[in-house]
Amino acid sequence: MAVVVQKYGGSSVATIEKIKAVAERVIERKKKGDEVVVVVSAMGKTTDHLINMAKEISPNPNRRELDMLMSTGEQVSIALLSIAFQQFGYDAISLTGFQAGILTEGMHTKNRIADVRIENVKKHLDEGKIVIVAGFQGINQFGDITTLGRGGSDTSAVALASKLKCTCEIYTDVEGIYNVDPRMYSDAKKLDNISYEEMMEMASLGAGVMEARAVEIACKYNIPIYVALNTGEKLGTYIKEYDETMENKAITGLTASDDVLMVTIRNVPCKAKSIALIFERIAKYNVNIDMISQTAPLDGYVNVSFTTSKEDIYTIDDITKEIKKEIPTIKVSKELDISKISVVGIGMMKQSGVAAKVFSILSENNIEFKQVTTSEISISYTIDSIDKGRAVTALAKELNL
Ligand code: ADP
Ligand code: ASP
Ligand code: MG
Repeated sequence: MAVVVQKYGGSSVATIEKIKAVAERVIERKKKGDEVVVVVSAMGKTTDHLINMAKEISPNPNRRELDMLMSTGEQVSIALLSIAFQQFGYDAISLTGFQAGILTEGMHTKNRIADVRIENVKKHLDEGKIVIVAGFQGINQFGDITTLGRGGSDTSAVALASKLKCTCEIYTDVEGIYNVDPRMYSDAKKLDNISYEEMMEMASLGAGVMEARAVEIACKYNIPIYVALNTGEKLGTYIKEYDETMENKAITGLTASDDVLMVTIRNVPCKAKSIALIFERIAKYNVNIDMISQTAPLDGYVNVSFTTSKEDIYTIDDITKEIKKEIPTIKVSKELDISKISVVGIGMMKQSGVAAKVFSILSENNIEFKQVTTSEISISYTIDSIDKGRAVTALAKELNL
């Protein structure tokens, strides 16, 4: 008998009917002789609603309490799914992240899985039960409920699969991984396979179909992920180790992200010490910086810009206040209407000219970019959000995606 972890996202459990349909699909699998661990997300847009309620009380809610609040969403879906299995005559048990042994570390609302104590899940599987685990949540060393960052149910599923040494199947509302988000570009093409590295890069640059950390864990433990439509009717996409049979185009995918906060600090004395101080303070607060740019010195001063997640806007305010105490000349501005467009592909390592091609497509379409960063397998550009749709369409068409 093989074990499999199946994860169903919010849209797949959005209504009672859909929860019953998930139960029926899992039962089909069980009848074929597999032991199934099901990981579920909160129903539909529940997590957004929970966050909005907290924000009606405070613009910057306490993060421990946000975790307490958000974790309730997944608990509703695990209990309902378990009730559905029992109604259909199957033995099942729902487990919170804590009960499933998901131990986390780090900051509230963006915890990382430190370990999974899999014994309890195994015990219930050995007893022949279908085990249902709440995605997105765990418990930290202080016994507090934590969450793993938006989209974190993918991470819960892959972490469980890596401990059970089995395949992880992610069921969602699209047929698989496409080279461009099909909601942004209707001619996008579904990929049969994609390497861990490319998927990790696409996920961290905005392809919300998979959580980047989930792919990172799968890559580390070499756990294959299969992403497919929740009805299982069509062939989905395998995320696995790169091999020569995979398409070797320079560009595998295109992503766009609106989660960009661009911070500019003007009037910084042009000394290495001042620049170092800025980035030391940011690091102290655990804020992840993405793109960095600096203007040429003018009268002994420079302007420094960087991008980060919009989530960190309040932390950035605290940080810049601290910096201002030590460098009183600075002036800080924040821009929120910025998007990041990225092209990703392992083939880029061997092919040159990709950046030049993207530059010329953007310029032919009169789209100005503000910053550019590159990794071995991606190139990213920040642009005004208003140009995002045009940029995606122009790039996807001209790059034959
Ligand atoms: P779930 O609730 O199942 O976790 P998500 O909303 O998190 O589902 O992810 C599915 C969505 O991801 C799709 O509806 C699609 O619009 C979006 N998406 C973004 N980029 C891609 C991509 N490259 N391929 C497929 N879907 C993508
Ligand atoms: N419910 C959480 C969210 O909306 C986790 C997930 O769906 O993966 O982000
Ligand atoms: Mg998701």
